[in-house]
Amino acid sequence: MTDLSFLSALDANIVFDHPSLSAFGSGGDIAAVIYPATAKQLVQATALLDREKIPYFILGNCTNVLIKDEGIDGVVICTKYLCGIEVKDDLLYVAAGESMPKLCKLSLEGSLSGLEGLCSIPGTVGGGVIMNCSAFGREFADVIEYVDIVQGGEIVRYSAQDLDFGYRYSKAKSLGAVIGAGIKLKSGDKRKIANDIKGYKIARGRSQPQGISLGSVFKQVDGVSAGYYIDKAGLKGMRIGGAKISEKHANFILNVDRATSADFLELGNYARQEVDKLWGVGLQYEIDII
Ligand SMILES: Cc1cc2nc3c(=O)[nH]c(=O)nc-3n(C[C@H](O)[C@H](O)[C@H](O)COP(=O)(O)OP(=O)(O)OC[C@H]3O[C@@H](n4cnc5c(N)ncnc54)[C@H](O)[C@@H]3O)c2cc1C
Repeated sequence: MTDLSFLSALDANIVFDHPSLSAFGSGGDIAAVIYPATAKQLVQATALLDREKIPYFILGNCTNVLIKDEGIDGVVICTKYLCGIEVKDDLLYVAAGESMPKLCKLSLEGSLSGLEGLCSIPGTVGGGVIMNCSAFGREFADVIEYVDIVQGGEIVRYSAQDLDFGYRYSKAKSLGAVIGAGIKLKSGDKRKIANDIKGYKIARGRSQPQGISLGSVFKQVDGVSAGYYIDKAGLKGMRIGGAKISEKHANFILNVDRATSADFLELGNYARQEVDKLWGVGLQYEIDII
């Protein structure tokens, strides 16, 4: 096991032998989790780890990441406490750790439109930038002006065009830790924005299950939901250990009873194999597995 005691030199809060952060509720311990609360602390942490040549993962709210049961014998930088929102007319500068629901609430208060469909996504702004999170035909990239990324101990600003946003893709992933993003919204009618948010929440409640999950497990295939194929394969309700394919939405795996990450993966891999066998369709995980 690598000696990580040098991390104590950092200003940020550090927790050693941290339990898994995955929103699926499974996974082993993490040797060290660093929680930067300011941009300066994030720059300092990445610079130190780079200097010591220690690889690390960057996480937000871990709502799209499964941590394996053996855990992580290494370092995670969790950006969820890197918070702050500055509003200047219709341009918002949002720190990476702010939650999407909070950002949406603030934009509603300011009668700003553009995020209505994304309000129930339970991740952070940093995670949203990396995943280019989307819902109801709108994607986060639609409103992103620029993204600040830590690279080699410096903060570099990338315009949205430089980041090649696509379906669940952003070049930002290969560039470094997201510190914050400039979000451009449009002035709108407060009542309409509130009604739209409500409508999307109702639609989500109708189509998606309650309970512990990582949201959609697999990416769409040529615009078709992976859930369509998993449902057609008759796998809704299938259970392995404590993990179960939702009866309501076949692309969701729920933790119904102390599921392990191995349960999740066995079930996901089985679904993938069946869909491939039946239609020759190769499902790709949307979630990260670390
Ligand atoms: C119930 C539920 C519903 C969901 N619905 C949707 C939906 O409608 N649409 C959708 O797109 N997604 C959805 N998701 C998935 C997930 O919430 C999104 O992908 C979200 O954007 C992930 O944000 P996060 O902060 O949790 O990121 P994490 O899960 O922590 O990380 C996701 C990726 O981003 C990277 N990352 C995170 N923060 C940073 C940072 N600061 N700098 C660099 N890299 C970073 C991680 O390394 C990882 O690769 C849902 C998830 C759940 C549990």
